[in-house]
Amino acid sequence: MEIIKTKADMQAWSKNKKKESRTLCFVPTMGYLHQGHVSLMEKGRPLCDELVLSIFVNPTQFGPNEDLSSYPRNIENDLSLAEKAGVTAVFLPIKEDIYPENFQTEIKLQSLPNHLCGKFRPVHFAGVAVVVTKLFNIVMPDKAVFGMKDYQQLQIIRQLVLDLDFDIEIVAGDIIREKDGLAMSSRNAYLSKSERTSALSLSRSLALAKELLAKGEKNTADIRSKIDSLIHSFPETKVEYVSFCQPETLEEIKVIEKKVLLALAVKVGKTRLIDNALIDPAQ
Ligand code: AMP
Repeated sequence: MEIIKTKADMQAWSKNKKKESRTLCFVPTMGYLHQGHVSLMEKGRPLCDELVLSIFVNPTQFGPNEDLSSYPRNIENDLSLAEKAGVTAVFLPIKEDIYPENFQTEIKLQSLPNHLCGKFRPVHFAGVAVVVTKLFNIVMPDKAVFGMKDYQQLQIIRQLVLDLDFDIEIVAGDIIREKDGLAMSSRNAYLSKSERTSALSLSRSLALAKELLAKGEKNTADIRSKIDSLIHSFPETKVEYVSFCQPETLEEIKVIEKKVLLALAVKVGKTRLIDNALIDPAQ
């Protein structure tokens, strides 16, 4: 496994592989890897000849009061998991290489960032769009794998690839969960023991919605109010949003007639957690 630290070296490595007609699959991450990330690497490994992982805590996708400075890191463990998962190159850029002085470009999508997390994290998706664009131009992959855990991000990247004509196939990976249902996240490391229990309120909400839907409830306001009560029955929780929306446009839905995305964000203590599920009332 090669460890590459500059964008010039990364571009040279990718160009070289392309010259040898080798295909490249790419998994971008912010590190502190867990089994969710590993599942994306395992999904990507057989898709191409080479598997590139990037680890970069992207400052532009954090708001001023968010957790950029405390974001967890463990590079040794990350490299060991990457190697085991069959990664052939790890790209570890530094901030100054990605955002040199006088960096000016912004990428703004018109509609997808106006929903769900974008309402509460106003700079987040512009930061994601810019860093993913840059990483795509540096790594030059044929395919890239993103997790459904960050569903809105996945939709935004699909749109970005379409709008800007990136010749890259976007592959989606399922949400990997702990045994008790909590979606894996690097931010779970912030949770105290009691918060860890309250964090179950998210996956329990998804299960409750599925149950209610199976019983024939279709009105999202009614289901949402039951979910709110469930979440608030767990201590130290604060609901940011519980949204039923159209899976492609992310527009809110009032009555569930067909496949819907249920997405939610909850603050547990100071930690903001997200989860989601695609729910099909026909099933
Ligand atoms: P992050 O390091 O949080 O930026 O995430 C890097 C990639 O891993 C993104 O595509 C995430 O959607 C994905 N990811 C994070 N958590 C999970 C999970 N529990 N299951 C599957 N993919 C995940």
